Amino acid sequence: MPSPNHDERMLPADILLLHYTGMTSTAAAVERLCDPAAKVSSHYVVDECGTVLQLVPEIHRAWHAGQSSWDGVSDINSHSIGIEIANPGHGFGYPDFPEAQIAAVIALCRDIVTRHRIRADRVLAHSDVAPQRKLDPGEKFPWARLHCCGVGAWVTPLPIGTDAGLGLGDCGPEIANLQSALRDYGYGVEATGVYDELTEAVVTAFQRHFRTDCIDGRADRSTIETLQALLAATDRGR
Ligand SMILES: [Zn+2]
Repeated sequence: MPSPNHDERMLPADILLLHYTGMTSTAAAVERLCDPAAKVSSHYVVDECGTVLQLVPEIHRAWHAGQSSWDGVSDINSHSIGIEIANPGHGFGYPDFPEAQIAAVIALCRDIVTRHRIRADRVLAHSDVAPQRKLDPGEKFPWARLHCCGVGAWVTPLPIGTDAGLGLGDCGPEIANLQSALRDYGYGVEATGVYDELTEAVVTAFQRHFRTDCIDGRADRSTIETLQALLAATDRGR
């Protein structure tokens, strides 16, 4: 299903970016991703039955990330291959991803990360690169299972304790340390020492990907230690 919504890739693909379509039918999503007026696309769409459609060749730059940032780079489209996973999303009840669909997504991701040698810490959610705008593919997406199949980074999250943690409005060196750690991993946040709305959105995105038992945007001990374990596991720490 070729989409006209692409242009020339200026850089080799070194990010794999996962999305959900956020629409009630795959047909409607594909129609939009191929509509020149919509100016959006992705390289692949995986429907609920596990059928994979290719819309844009990997050598071209598909338009799926929008305004985004990762590891200091804002042109995520030039850096990435995008997969849209058919799911109505949080706006329409956010159903579970069917098994056949997840199996197909894993097989496709394995193929892509192998061929392009994409690092584990660069297999990302749209919410990771656009934390103030996006929720997809969301907390039901089985990142741990992908990691077990050789795709993406994962550490077992530390258990949630009783501490309240840090949150919106807090400031000080602890906040700067948290922001530096998030930034070291790749998130688009500066070490200002102020727990502002961006920081809360980034912590929420981190939790949605790596510590899904509580997604509240507060940096409790479990969130911070899970982040530190992830930095160590992926060699991203200082
Ligand atoms: Zn998306």
